[in-house]
Amino acid sequence: MDTPTQFLVEAWSGQRTPFYCYDVGLLRRTLARALRCASVRDRFKLHYAIKANFNPRILSIIASSGMGADCVSGGEIAAALRAGFPPEDIFFAGVGKRDDEIEFALRSGIGRFNVESFEELEVIEEIASGMGLIAPVSFRVNPDVGAHTLAGITTGLAENKFGIEWERIPEAIRAALNLGHIQFLGLHFHIGSQILDMTDFGTLCTRYDQIAGTLESEGLPLGDINVGGGLGIDYAHPCEHPMADFESYFGTYAASLRCRPGQMVHFELGRSIVGPCGTLISRVLYVKRGHSRDFAIIDGSMTELIRPALYHAKQQIENLSSDEAPLTYDVVGPVCESSDVFGKDVRLRRCHRGDFIAVRSSGAYGESMASGYNCHPLPPSVFINE
Ligand SMILES: *Cc1c(COP(=O)(O)O)cnc(C)c1O
Repeated sequence: MDTPTQFLVEAWSGQRTPFYCYDVGLLRRTLARALRCASVRDRFKLHYAIKANFNPRILSIIASSGMGADCVSGGEIAAALRAGFPPEDIFFAGVGKRDDEIEFALRSGIGRFNVESFEELEVIEEIASGMGLIAPVSFRVNPDVGAHTLAGITTGLAENKFGIEWERIPEAIRAALNLGHIQFLGLHFHIGSQILDMTDFGTLCTRYDQIAGTLESEGLPLGDINVGGGLGIDYAHPCEHPMADFESYFGTYAASLRCRPGQMVHFELGRSIVGPCGTLISRVLYVKRGHSRDFAIIDGSMTELIRPALYHAKQQIENLSSDEAPLTYDVVGPVCESSDVFGKDVRLRRCHRGDFIAVRSSGAYGESMASGYNCHPLPPSVFINE
């Protein structure tokens, strides 16, 4: 964060903790950089994956950058429309689209359904036919490509629930071409999240080329390409690397993805757009002497930020109020679950009751995954560096 800590602590003295603090300046610089790096090819189109953070203020900033939106529910489509994303730039993914969501998406004139099964294709055909509309469709492919990331957030393996097995894509396209209310427009992939090894994206490009080759040899249309998202951020060094490596990411696709003439390439980035710009701010309630360790018990918990409890994700934690020498703490929340831990053996400047504690890089899958467990209210948000 650029703003001096002391200023922030003063500004926050009346604010109820825990809350999310978003650095709007960093968000705008990140959007500009992502769009600039994507312009290595004029056929690269960026979308923002709304599930990473659907705070209305954040959505409207992203919508005004010109990116499209990737949604996984009817509620997210409504949020995207409210924020000002043009309907034709809204894509709808997800393995379990409800009938009312499909109807709403058709009525709203969204740009694409990313269809995940033969069964779903039939339901969309039936609903579109009843409404006298044509549904624009891509197939989400399960490419059976692993990603070097946390096991809970890999999505492109055959064992995962997502997409249609890549070997059955020709059959899926033939089925789509035989339906009267489906327009087949391309293939969609998303192999996982928090991916830092660019060779994973290269492997996906190789698989795409193999599938495209089969389709060409069978005389089937390819449509466009949607490679999903998944670019990771540096959780360990948020100050040194406040932005994801968009240059390597788009450079990898520019070098490895063999596009056919006229093909558009869509990207759906979530974490890398909003992750670094959010910080969860909590206060120390108690410093508790344990049997073998000291606990910093803070008022923030897994109900505001579940990533550490859900995937053992590590995020940088700092004491903003102390300049004393660091000690070692387990930083934990008040929720009645042993997994309500932000970090074990964390080096923090000596903690006192009332100190402000920052959990960095909390802009993605933080506020959007907040729950009301233990009757906790949803966290408020403040915006800085506007
Ligand atoms: C979640 C998701 C994304 C965004 O993933 P990030 O890792 O946050 O970039 C993109 N596309 C689809 C289909 C998703 O489900």
